[in-house]
Parts: sequence; C-alpha cells; structure tokens
Amino acid sequence: MQTISSARFIELEERYGAHNYHPLPVVLSRGEGALVWDVEGKRYFDFLSAYSAVNQGHCHPRLVEVMREQAGILTLTSRAFHNNLLGEYEQYITNIFGYDKVLPMNSGVEAVETAIKLCRKWGYQVKGIEPGKARIIVLEDNFHGRTTGVISFSTDPSSTTDFGPFMPGYEMVPYNDLPALEAALKDPDIAGLLIEPIQGEAGVVVPDDGYLSAAFELCRKHNILFMADEIQTGLCRTGKMLACDHENIHPDVLILGKALSGGMMPVSAVLADDPVMLCIQPGEHGSTFGGNPLACRIAMTALDILQEEQLAENADRMGQMLRNALQKMSGNVIRSVRGKGLLNAIVVEPMNGRDAWDFCLMLKENGLLAKPTHGDKIRFAPPLVITEEQMLECIEIIRKTEAQFLA
Ligand code: PLP
Repeated sequence: MQTISSARFIELEERYGAHNYHPLPVVLSRGEGALVWDVEGKRYFDFLSAYSAVNQGHCHPRLVEVMREQAGILTLTSRAFHNNLLGEYEQYITNIFGYDKVLPMNSGVEAVETAIKLCRKWGYQVKGIEPGKARIIVLEDNFHGRTTGVISFSTDPSSTTDFGPFMPGYEMVPYNDLPALEAALKDPDIAGLLIEPIQGEAGVVVPDDGYLSAAFELCRKHNILFMADEIQTGLCRTGKMLACDHENIHPDVLILGKALSGGMMPVSAVLADDPVMLCIQPGEHGSTFGGNPLACRIAMTALDILQEEQLAENADRMGQMLRNALQKMSGNVIRSVRGKGLLNAIVVEPMNGRDAWDFCLMLKENGLLAKPTHGDKIRFAPPLVITEEQMLECIEIIRKTEAQFLA
C-alpha cells in the first residue's frame, strides 16, 4: 500500500481548509503520553500539549477506556431531560474545587462567555447596578478566546482587525499594575474582574508575587467578582491544581476548560457559589452539548488522573528541572526564561537571519515540537506525565538546537 507523505496532507489542508492557522510543517498521526509520531513514523516530544489540553498525556489509557465504554451506552441527551451522570459529575467537580455549583459548557471561550453573562446578571440583581450599565475590568494582552464578544476586549490587532464593531462594557487596565486596577475598581458600575493568573497566549507572562492576592482583596473591598480564567493555567499545569492556589485565593468565579477532558473532547465549566450561580434561571443560558453524559464521565476521569497520578507535583518538579537547565543555557540565544510548573516560555534572540520560528523548525528536526507565540517567545509546556528521563532527553535536544542556532 502506498503511504501518503506529510507534504500531501499539508497540501490538502492548504487547498481545502481555511487559512486561520499557521502550523509547523509536521503531520501527526499518533500520540502516547508526552510523545507524538508523524505520518513518516518520526517520534517527537510534544512541548505544546494542545495548548495545555492534554495535561494527562496523549491518549491516556483510562480516558480511552471510559470514552469507548460510555460511547456505547449514552452520549448526548440535551438538557431537555436529566441524565444519570450529570448530577454525579456536578457533585464531584464542585467538591474538588469548593463551590456550590457548576455550569457545564464545551469550549473554553463558551465558558468565558458564560462567566461574563453570570457576572452581569449578578451585577444587576445582587450588586444593584443600573440596567445596561454593568462593566467588567479586563487586562491588556489578555487572551480569552475568539468569539465576537470576547475579542471585543482583546488588545491584539490580529484578534480584532476588521472584526468590529465590538461590544462595549469593558474597562482595560494594564496587567500586573495594582494602582491602575484600584483606580478602575472605584467605578460603582464595575461588576467583575476577568483575569488570567498567568497570561499564557501573551507569552507566559507571570505577574509579580502577591499581585493576584492583592487584586483579589481589592475586588473584595469594592464588591466586585474576581473571575479567574484558568482554562490554560488550571488543572495542575503550573504545579498546583489551580494557579490561584499559589496565592491561596478562591476566585468568585472559576473558569476551566482544555485539560478537563484530557484532550478527548471539548469540555469546559464555570464554578461559583449560589449567590452568583442562581442569578441565571432556566432558559436564560445553555448549550446543546454542555453536560452531556460522555463529557461528564470523561471529565470525572480526567480529574481523577490529575489527582491520582500527582500531576501537580510532577509539573512542579519537572518545571524546576527544565527552567534550571534553560537558565544555564540563557545567554546569546535564549534571552530569558520564565514560567511556573510546566507552563514556561523562552525569549529567543534573532540572529544570523534566524528567529523563533526557525528555532522551532530546528527543534522539530531534533525531535521536539514547540510553537512561537507573539514573535520571539516559545512556549515550553509538555504533558504533565513527562518523566525525568524524558525531560533530560528534551533538555539535551534544546541544548543541541541552541548550538546549531548559534553556528
Ligand atoms: N482562555 C484562555 C486563558 C485560553 O488560553 C484559551 C485558549 O487558548 C481560551 C480561553 C479559549 O479556549 P477555547 O479555544 O477552548 O475556546
């Protein structure tokens, strides 16, 4: 049988797919744990983890088993009827994160939209903001998804150019700037603050220690909902179950996605206590697929794996090992290293006519897949199941690539 080459697959996508992504020229056909293989059979370490959706590793055997089993029993009923797994899942996830209630959705951006709607309802019904006036504070360089609502408060021209008009009701404040935040919070029409504990897409921007807890306290003081978008930072990625756990804060609204399914299907969730969550009444919000039985079982298993395999601890240990090694390399090529747990980034110094994209192409040739974000930054975020031995191999690959880049 004749095999189809990578070039042919890429050509097909180019010809028949919308050009809304610019992938690295590699065609993957199999994955296991921290590893993926291309159609030619070459093996790579995955240092992107589907933007942190496969924290549990590719095709985790327990997820595959549950997926297979539940797919043959019941997958979707819609919320027009009850199903036998939704309540169990809701109890399970609210217990883990310590909230009264959860609202299940699918993609991350849908969960962000849900949080925004909840926040506005709460602003009017509980805080007493005049109808139509509620506003939400958002932060410069944020990334919360791609709907027309969410891009309305993006500061990235590639997210917004020629996609207007945009939705009003947002107040933009610089990230990691407490005085600016405090000034904005004084407006009585502010209902909430939407914040990434670490800005992932912006290039893994880690705020100063104490910023999150101080921002949280300011929200308390001004009766404003602190809404943490932990879609990328949550679920053990940064070395704790939630990135907010590093500063011992319990957001009023918690937004989860990505690894909530371990990469099996889109599963997202918004968690809050009753005074917030019960602002939404039947018929006011929902989704055909949200809370489907297949998703419920997958999410429970995905959360189980994170805890039973102690993936937060492993992310913490492996992250330190990686950053220590990268810091030692830091100099001519690697201008800076930052991150927490296994959410890391390096900043690459362009040289000899080469830039971060070329660095990623060279990493690929050497067996490691990573992708630049915002020009000169490369995110290093492998699945959290990566072993010490594998990490040592990855560090060697990066070292070798750095030397080739310099040559
Ligand atoms: N919020 C954050 C912090 C994200 O990193 C992302 C995706 O990268 C999203 C929201 C959007 O998630 P999705 O692509 O599943 O809609």
